[in-house]
Amino acid sequence: MNALAATNRNFRHAARILGLDSKVEKSLLIPFREIKVECTIPKDDGTLVSYVGFRVQHDNARGPMKGGIRYHPEVDPDEVNALAQLMTWKTAVADIPYGGAKGGIGCTPRELSLSELERLTRVFTQKIHDLIGIHTDVPAPDMGTNSQTMAWILDEYSKFHGHSPAVVTGKPIDLGGSLGREAATGRGVVYAAEALLAEYGKSIGGFWERWVLGSKAHNERGGKVIAVSDITGAVKNPKGLDIPELLRHKEATGSLRNFHGGDSMDPSELLLHECDVLIPCALGGVLNRENAADVKAKFIVEAANHPTDPEADEILSKKGVIILPDIYANAGGVTVSYFEWVQNIQGFMWEEEQVNNELRRYMTRAFHNIKNMCKTHDCNLRMGAFTLGVNRVARATLLRGWEA
Ligand code: GLU
Repeated sequence: MNALAATNRNFRHAARILGLDSKVEKSLLIPFREIKVECTIPKDDGTLVSYVGFRVQHDNARGPMKGGIRYHPEVDPDEVNALAQLMTWKTAVADIPYGGAKGGIGCTPRELSLSELERLTRVFTQKIHDLIGIHTDVPAPDMGTNSQTMAWILDEYSKFHGHSPAVVTGKPIDLGGSLGREAATGRGVVYAAEALLAEYGKSIGGFWERWVLGSKAHNERGGKVIAVSDITGAVKNPKGLDIPELLRHKEATGSLRNFHGGDSMDPSELLLHECDVLIPCALGGVLNRENAADVKAKFIVEAANHPTDPEADEILSKKGVIILPDIYANAGGVTVSYFEWVQNIQGFMWEEEQVNNELRRYMTRAFHNIKNMCKTHDCNLRMGAFTLGVNRVARATLLRGWEA
């Protein structure tokens, strides 16, 4: 099942649980606007190459649409559509005043030089500048993009509309980025996992010592990271990996391979490794009917967007695996994006401690809101999060009314 079919299925299930009016259901399913643009740039050798860029603006009932822009070879309209919809529910679950959007360019960023990436980003911005804005749609980094990409978008957008730092988030600090934004997704994952484990009387640094992570989160709270993977490979150490050392190795060699503090492993085995907590952090659809039955983790924290497809969801639920869903677990990034936007609009910069404290408050509050929905509707955490998000957006939609 592709990402859009899976996302629509979860949405419809939540709509049924909530007894949503069919008019509202239909309006929430169909995206507000889908943009597709051709971006032609000269490569460094002078040849012309065209890339296709997308921006899907899903819903704006609760505020400006918000979501990342990814550069990845597998970017396709259905996937961007699904991810835009997930952003609508995610911002509502986090209770930040935004709707949802997502964009992407089908390209392999590793194969482009810095100046080619800059040209591509500027051309894409020229094509969509009239459709984004501080109070309409605010992009941010996602897979394959970073704070430098946001700096180029800001610069290009400002040529048309004047200096507008709040038009993108995840910017470099020197251009109005927020302290704590870079680490926010990982930090949010840790706060989310803490809230979940506390429900079971556990803590990261206590009984739950062994972790398996993807690439981003880290072990500063005392959990033991026993395996990690990224695009370059996977490495394990049952006694716990020295993460700061591993990051230094990656920085120096560009790869996880040949790390002296652990043994190499096949990246596809990582998801099936014996562990307490599994955290898929990058691509969607990595847990599917092929491998779900062999997952040994007791908890899965979805740091990636849509890592578990519905068939895997069912298999894992039957095995009693507890899954903390993406629209909550990885909401730390967009939550600190919101803090960044607020700081830009107020022209006032927060200390990092304030950012992190507020992030923890938002993540903990959202977890308790989700648990309440689970109790009210007797459902699992994914449906608890979906019903929470969909209900908030439906309420805003109804309050705005339907008259043209
Ligand atoms: N790309 C991130 C996400 O999928 C962050 C989006 C944002 O900060 O707007 O949630």
